[in-house]
Amino acid sequence: MKLFDIQKIVRKNVAQMMPYSSARDDYSDTAEVWLDANENPFPTGYNRYPDPWQRELKKAVSKVKDVPVENIFIGNGSDEVLDLLFRAFCEPRLDNVVTLRPGYGMYNVLAEVNDVQCREADLEPDFSLNAEKVLALADANTKLIVLCSPNNPTGNALETEEVETILLNTRALVVVDEAYADFSEKPGWLERLSVFPNLVVVQTLSKAWGMAALRLGLGFAGKEIIRVLNRIKPPYNVNLMSQQEALKQLALPEKTKERIALVRQEKEKMRRALETLPGIKKVFPSDANFLLVEMKNATEVYRKLLEEGIVVRNRSGILHCTSCLRITMGTPEENERLLFELKNILQLPPLQASTPEAEQ
Ligand SMILES: *Cc1c(COP(=O)(O)O)cnc(C)c1O
Repeated sequence: MKLFDIQKIVRKNVAQMMPYSSARDDYSDTAEVWLDANENPFPTGYNRYPDPWQRELKKAVSKVKDVPVENIFIGNGSDEVLDLLFRAFCEPRLDNVVTLRPGYGMYNVLAEVNDVQCREADLEPDFSLNAEKVLALADANTKLIVLCSPNNPTGNALETEEVETILLNTRALVVVDEAYADFSEKPGWLERLSVFPNLVVVQTLSKAWGMAALRLGLGFAGKEIIRVLNRIKPPYNVNLMSQQEALKQLALPEKTKERIALVRQEKEKMRRALETLPGIKKVFPSDANFLLVEMKNATEVYRKLLEEGIVVRNRSGILHCTSCLRITMGTPEENERLLFELKNILQLPPLQASTPEAEQ
């Protein structure tokens, strides 16, 4: 049975609309005089509109991620990629999306903005995914099932079998947000793209690749899905400077790999150090570049860290995260500083004072 049919889930107005045809759509490699877009002709380095299809950048992404160019969409941050998915597939006030709790807050915001109902399936207390709970919330108006793996703020990659069960039992698009996949040693979903026609993988250059300020999000999917996103995207959604800078970084993947290795090393060091501190109740397993840490009086610890100029994320108020802080891995020096302040706050004597005499 062929469950997935893009014609059945794309919004009618999107399927029928005439896309904006930008002056540079027929970007010709041979043209020499550009009098078509009312630009200023005097060179500043950025007086011309950028390539609306980011062709050079897509080639570089294709090489690094091993995905064909026609299966790649680039957005102004993955927030834009996600927003376009909502706008392409979810009819306001009629359709709904299913996401996970605890999860990334942006999915709720995007649902609100687009006037689409957001249904949340609870993860288990150990943050594992139960496909049945997700599928039970979905109905004929569910257009997107948005999963985040490794999940934010919990840090764990979702169970492959459960995600597969969801993919195989829904007509909706299953969007796997892999913002942290570069940090994970577990296989991601890019290599399964050709197996599941309803799979969309969203990644970003904001985290492991160190380009958060450039706003570059990546969408990977079947050609038909990419074509829909291309119809509705703002014509020049990725600016020239971002395209150029990203090309430089993507040409040096070894540098990023080294940084990822260092972050992973720091994460394990941090885990071991945290686990020796009294007041720390649990450091959750993490496939990402942060640790979710359950401790005594997390909100108070959070405030005291702030007083010392250290900002972490207080996740105490959300499901299964009672008294938890989410701590991003910084440089080795920053991590040392965090541990030092944390020790003080949890009222341990400083290291050099913990001699037998000082303990009396
Ligand atoms: C950080 C993050 C992103 C990245 O968003 P950008 O808009 O690409 O910077 C996406 N999803 C999740 C879950 C994140 O934590």
